[in-house]
Amino acid sequence: MSTGEELLRSRGLRVTRPRLAVLDVLADGGHLEVDEITRRVRERLDSVSTQAVYDVLAALSRAGLSRRIEPAGSPARYEARAGDNHHHVVCRGCGEIADIDCATGSAPCLAPDTAHGFEVDEAEVTFWGLCPTCQTRRLVDD
Ligand SMILES: [Zn+2]
Ligand SMILES: [Zn+2]
Ligand SMILES: [Zn+2]
Repeated sequence: MSTGEELLRSRGLRVTRPRLAVLDVLADGGHLEVDEITRRVRERLDSVSTQAVYDVLAALSRAGLSRRIEPAGSPARYEARAGDNHHHVVCRGCGEIADIDCATGSAPCLAPDTAHGFEVDEAEVTFWGLCPTCQTRRLVDD
C-alpha cells in the first residue's frame, strides 16, 4: 500500500486516483496554486477537471492532509505541510514563499495584551520581505 493510501485511510477518506495524485503532487513540496496542482495532476491522470482538484483539496484540507494559505495579493496556495503551526515569509518582489518554523509550534503563538473577551485560537503571522533573488536584482537595478 502506498503512503498516499495509508494517509487517506488514516483520516477516514476514501482512496481515489485524483486524491492520490494531488497528495503525490503536494508531497513534492512547495506552496502551489491550484492551476499548478491541476497541471501536474494531469501529467499523472489523463482527465481531471479543475473543479475536481478544488474538491480534492477541500477534502484534504478538512482532513488535515493539506493546508491552504492565502497571502495578501496572491491566489490561494496549498501545501502538504499541515498540522504544525508554521508561518510563512513572502517575497514582495516575486511572491516566492518559504516556511518559517513557529517558535512555540502551537497556535496561538502570540498572546494579545487584551483579547476583548474573544477566545483566541490562532495568530496569523506572515513575514514579508525580499527573497535572495530579488535582493540581487535590486542591487543590479541600482
Ligand atoms: Zn523574490
Ligand atoms: Zn508552508
Ligand atoms: Zn509562531
